[in-house]
This record gives sequence, C-alpha cells and structure tokens, in this order.
Amino acid sequence: MRALAQLDAGVGDGATRDASGDAVTDAAAPIVRTGDPVLRRRAAEVPAARLGSPELAALATEMIAIMRAAPGVGLAAPQIGRSERIFVLEDRPEAIGRLSETERAERARVAFAPRVFVNPVVTPVGTETATFFEGCLSVPGYVGLVTRALEVEVTGKDEHGAPQTWRVRGWPARILQHELDHLDGTLYVDRMLPRTLLHADEARARYAGKPIADVLSAIAPPRP
Ligand code: ZN
Repeated sequence: MRALAQLDAGVGDGATRDASGDAVTDAAAPIVRTGDPVLRRRAAEVPAARLGSPELAALATEMIAIMRAAPGVGLAAPQIGRSERIFVLEDRPEAIGRLSETERAERARVAFAPRVFVNPVVTPVGTETATFFEGCLSVPGYVGLVTRALEVEVTGKDEHGAPQTWRVRGWPARILQHELDHLDGTLYVDRMLPRTLLHADEARARYAGKPIADVLSAIAPPRP
C-alpha cells in the first residue's frame, strides 16, 4: 500500500487511506461525505465570545485527532458536520518520507506541525500557479487535477484565539486553499480540470511518480 501513499497521502485532505487507515476511520472519524448539504453551505464565522474558550481548543484537538486517524493532511469543520469556519492541517515527516525526491520537489512538500485556523482568510501571493492531484476525505476513492495559487498568505485566529499569519508556498498552500474552499461550500471537484477525475486505484497504478504533463496528455488530450 506504500505506492498509494506515494501518490496521495498528502493530497488535499488525503484522498485515500491505507489498510490500517480504513480500519480506524469509520469508527473513530465521523467524516461526512459529498451529498450531505453541510458540505455545500457557507460555514458561519466563529463568534468572538468563543475565541480563547476551552471548548474551541478542545474542538481543535478533536479535529486534529480525526484528521490523523483518517489519515489526512487537512480537515475542515463542515467535514465533521459543523458549519463553522475552522480548519486544521498538518503534514508529517513519515508521509513525506514515502515520496521520491522528484515527487517531493514537484509538490514542494515540507513537513509542518499541526496548525489550527479559526475564521481564516486566505490570499494568493503573486500569480504563479501549480497543478496537481487532490483528493478529499469527503469524496473518498477519487482524485483530480486542480490548479491553485503556488503561494498564499493566511490570517486568522489560532485555537486559543490569538491572531496569526502564515505565508507559505507549495503543498501547504494547496492544503490551505482546499480547506478554505470547504468553509465556502466548495469541493475540489468544482475546481478540477475537466476530464481529470480518476479513481484513486487507477491514479496510483498508472500515474504515480509521472510528470503532470504526461498525465494530462494521457487523459485529457486536446479536442481536435
Ligand atoms: Zn476536502
């Protein structure tokens, strides 16, 4: 199952799971799937009165645990049925260690500790973009190619209500944009390049480690 992880352990929420992940997910992680209207609503701002509350910090801790159990690299509150503007993200060294050097470089993946954003605002920096596969814990079993800003700046509150700003490039920037979309009722399938929705098994078997240009020429040739 390592080859699978190689392709998508860090894609968006984390598109698919290895065998051990499947075993824990359904019991431990009540992640809602596409079809539930909560994923299509604009989530509500967290009111100032809740910032800094033990309840909010506990929710963030719970979300990090669910994200890890899935396993994924990001999780937004609507994905556990809570229509609130909160997301968490993390990329762990062990997931990145499974990638080849080329893949690490192509995706600009770097490990980072868990981060929590409450009422986040994500702003693209510059005009550079990157195109890569994403999957979503709420759309299990599939991946698609999505073009995103290469660099973003995110501002918001942390789990204790303290203001924070993070300017970041590459994979974390992709995760931030994917999770912010969840707070606005948008899924990656709304943004993916037409014709690039792949079953995760096919993506893994056919395209793992290949340049995106090769993938595009195989599955999305220009129309005559
Ligand atoms: Zn997602």
